[in-house]
This record gives sequence, structure tokens and C-alpha cells, in this order.
Amino acid sequence: RFASTKYDVVVIGGGPGGYIAAIKAAQLGYNTACVEKRGSLGGTCLNVGCIPSKSLLNNTHLYHQIKHDSKHRGIEIAGDVSVNFSTLMAAKDKAVKGLTSGIEMLFKKNGVTYLKGEASFVDEHNINVKPIDGSENLEVEGTNFIVATGSEPTPFPGIEIDEERIVSSTGVLSLKELPKRMSIIGGGIIGLEMASVYARLGTEVTVIEFQSAIGAGMDAEVAKQSQKLLAKQGLNFKLGTKVTKGVREGDVVKIEVEDVKSGKKEELESDVLLVAIGRRPYTKNLDFEKAGLELDNKGRVVIDSELKTKHDHIRVIGDVTFGPMLAHKAEEEGVAAAEYIKHGHGHVNYANIPSVMYTHPEVAWVGLNEQQLKEQGIKYKVGKFPFIANSRAKTNLDTDGFVKFLADAETQRVLGVHIIGANAGEMIAEAGLALEYGASTEDIARTCHAHPTLSEAFKEAALATFDKPLNF
Ligand code: FAD
Repeated sequence: RFASTKYDVVVIGGGPGGYIAAIKAAQLGYNTACVEKRGSLGGTCLNVGCIPSKSLLNNTHLYHQIKHDSKHRGIEIAGDVSVNFSTLMAAKDKAVKGLTSGIEMLFKKNGVTYLKGEASFVDEHNINVKPIDGSENLEVEGTNFIVATGSEPTPFPGIEIDEERIVSSTGVLSLKELPKRMSIIGGGIIGLEMASVYARLGTEVTVIEFQSAIGAGMDAEVAKQSQKLLAKQGLNFKLGTKVTKGVREGDVVKIEVEDVKSGKKEELESDVLLVAIGRRPYTKNLDFEKAGLELDNKGRVVIDSELKTKHDHIRVIGDVTFGPMLAHKAEEEGVAAAEYIKHGHGHVNYANIPSVMYTHPEVAWVGLNEQQLKEQGIKYKVGKFPFIANSRAKTNLDTDGFVKFLADAETQRVLGVHIIGANAGEMIAEAGLALEYGASTEDIARTCHAHPTLSEAFKEAALATFDKPLNF
């Protein structure tokens, strides 16, 4: 059925890591195939991750603004504003469909062969592909392999996911009806984004988090501010609390929690329980051991600094191996893997991978946070600028948050940037560029930024690390 069963590069997994690696390998002149078993390209990110969650976040934000934040802007709405839940979900599905089929077009354009099936290693040079249409298995030989099989939600011991009442991040993106009450185990990015979506729609949301702070990995000051603002939006937080039980009884979920410090127990009831305690690498049915690949104690495929396994011709990228589980990290590695094959060298700067939480306000950061700088004994200066003093934020009546720079105490080299505010996710790109080029805060403060923009707050926060800000 396919022109060839031997390829220069065989990519396993068609997520952001795999599909980008396949396109890049083809662009570099390799006869390339990408094997994907889901039936659509784009992996977790496009199908059940980044894209559907951002569709729901964007549209519920719009709804919330129209309903609760429009009158004082001079926008009068004649009738009642309400949500059609199934249309909201359909808009999300449309975005997903458009983007996933867009990758098929990109494959055609770049000459990548798309093998729809599940791959398992036969040995280090051959895989078996079990087509999803039930047709005969196919043996495919690869001169090089790039493994990008991604990740799956980490299960909570003793709590059974049915994707109806007790859901993972996949189920919560496709609920059939709007729940009245939702409990969420995990105050990380995925948990908080989903908490925002449903709270905006009127669901009573409770976030249960074992740690005493939300947003694992965030700068502590930013996390605190974010929690305060989310609480103001109606989210309930139970921090320092562990879940001991979660069972479905008919149409309700009964949850038992315990205060980590005092041991005090409490029972909660919810219509939906979301388990969002993290993700784990996915290597099911891959028969990785037949190719001699090794997993570490967290299930990650072991690789060296050039993304190589013990075989030079098998590289591994994205969520299934080390590093942050983020789509753009997987993509960077996808390009690097193809370039390593072609040129013998590639580049991913792991010290410069931005993180974004797409709540409102957004939270975005890159580089080191204050906790890490203290731990590492690095002397640093802080420069902060609040959006309340930024003309564009004031004009937009959207002034929550601040930009915070952490710069080397002596050289002013940018070490980390942490932003909480509208559009923080877009603004963080400038910080990434600064880190990549080893910029100092003075370099940024002396760069002309357009007025009136939120990015002027970025410039002034940089200035505040070594001089007085001008507008605050
Ligand atoms: P994946 O995207 O998981 O793709 C792996 C693919 O491999 C899958 O499609 C799978 O079907 C396929 N596969 C697995 N085994 C085989 C096999 N044996 N044969 C054939 N195919 C196989 N990241 C961000 O950067 N920004 C965000 O805003 C963001 N939001 C998220 C929201 C949610 C709700 C979730 C769950 C995740 C989010 N992420 C986000 C994380 C992001 O989705 C992942 O980091 C990213 O998808 C990892 O890409 P990957 O290519 O490594 O793996």
C-alpha cells in the first residue's frame, strides 16, 4: 500500500515532537515516514491538550467578560447572556479538526509518508506497524528512528477514571453537560486552566493540592498573586490537603480529603472529579526492549545529551524522555533530532524553555525563579513593574499583575523573567530572546518599546533592576 517499506528516517508518534521531526527530516532531504496510531496527527497537544484547552479558555474568557465586565465599558447587552455548552464544545472540536488536518497537508507538502497505525520494535532496525484500519501488519525498516510517543495522564492510586464523572484532562475537555460542582486534584497548570474554564461558566470549583502553594515551578511570589486573583474569581482552594479517596456513587463523586499538617479529615461531594496530578511517559506496546532501549525509574526513555539511546540511529524526543512536558520543548527537540542525523549537531537550550499558564491573568516565566537563585547561591537583583502603572493596561481596564526581572547582581545579565498579567504568554517571548542572547537588563531598558503597549511594563521592570522606573 505504501511506496516503500524502507525509510531513511522513521518517526514514531505524530505529536508536536514527532510531526515536527518528520517535516524537518523530509526538508533535510530524507525519505521520511511518521507512524501515528491515534487516527489524527498533532498528538496530545492538538487533540486533547494545548489546543482544545485554549479554545475553551479563550471562549469562556470572552463569555465572562461580556457577562461580568462590559457594562462599565459602555457595552449594554439587551437580553441575557448565556452559554450554549454544546456549541462551545463544537467550536473547540472545529479548532482541533482544522489544525490536525492541517498537519496532514504539511506532510503532503513536505513529502512525509503518514503511516496510520501502532508501531512496535521488532529489533533496532525494524518496526512492525499495526494499521488502525485493521489491514495486514506492515514491517518497516528505518536507517534512523526518532521515538516521540509522548505521555499520558498519571493515574491516582485507588481512583478509577471513567471519563464521565471521574475524568482525566482528556475527559474534562469533552464533558457532555456543565457540572454544578467540580473538584480538581492538582493545582498545577492543567488543573488551574480547567478550574478557570468551569468557574467562568458558573461551576463551583474546588482545587485540592497537596503542596502548600499552587503552580508547581512558578516563582513563589507570582504563584501567591495568581492564587489570590483566581480565588477572587470564585475558585476554592484546599492547599496542603491530600485526597484519600474518590469514588463514584451514581451521579455524584464522593471524595475524602485530609489536611496534611493537622490530619483533619473532610468529605466532599462533586458532580465531576478531575484528576490532574501530572503526566507520565508513554511506551505501551512499543516493545522498546527489543531495540535495546532503557527506561529510568520514572518510565522515561534514557538518552544522552544528543537525544541518542545506546544506538546512534535511535533518538528520543518530547514527553517520553527527560525535561519539561511541553509542546514547544518537544518541537525544539524534533528539529534538533533531524539536524543531528543530518549534520551531527543540533541545539536545544534547556535553560530557556518558557512556561505559560493560560488563566486570566496569564502567568508566564522563563529562566530561574527566586527560590532557585537562592538555592544556587547566586546574587541577584529584582526589578518589578506593576500593570496598574502601565498606560495600556489602564486603558484596557485590565491592570492585575506585574513583570518581575531577576538579574545578576553584578553584570545585570537576565537570569529569569516572571510575568503575571494579560498577554503574559506573548510577552515572555522577549524574555526568551534576552536569555538566548545573554542580554543584560540595561540592553532591554535601552531598547525602544512601542507606546502604548503592555511591553512597556516589561521594559520598565528591566530598568527597575538598576535604576528608577519612570512611570511608577
Ligand atoms: P504527544 O503529543 O503525546 O504525542 C505522542 C503521539 O504518539 C500520540 O499521538 C500517540 O498516539 C502516538 N503514539 C504513542 N505510541 C505510539 C506507537 N507505538 N505507535 C504509533 N503512535 C504512537 N504544552 C504546552 O506547551 N502548552 C500548553 O498549553 C499545553 N497544554 C496542555 C493541556 C493539556 C490538557 C494537556 C494534557 C497537555 C498540555 N500540554 C501543553 C502538554 C503537551 O500536550 C505535550 O507536552 C506535548 O503534546 C508533547 O508532545 P510529544 O510529541 O512528545 O507527545
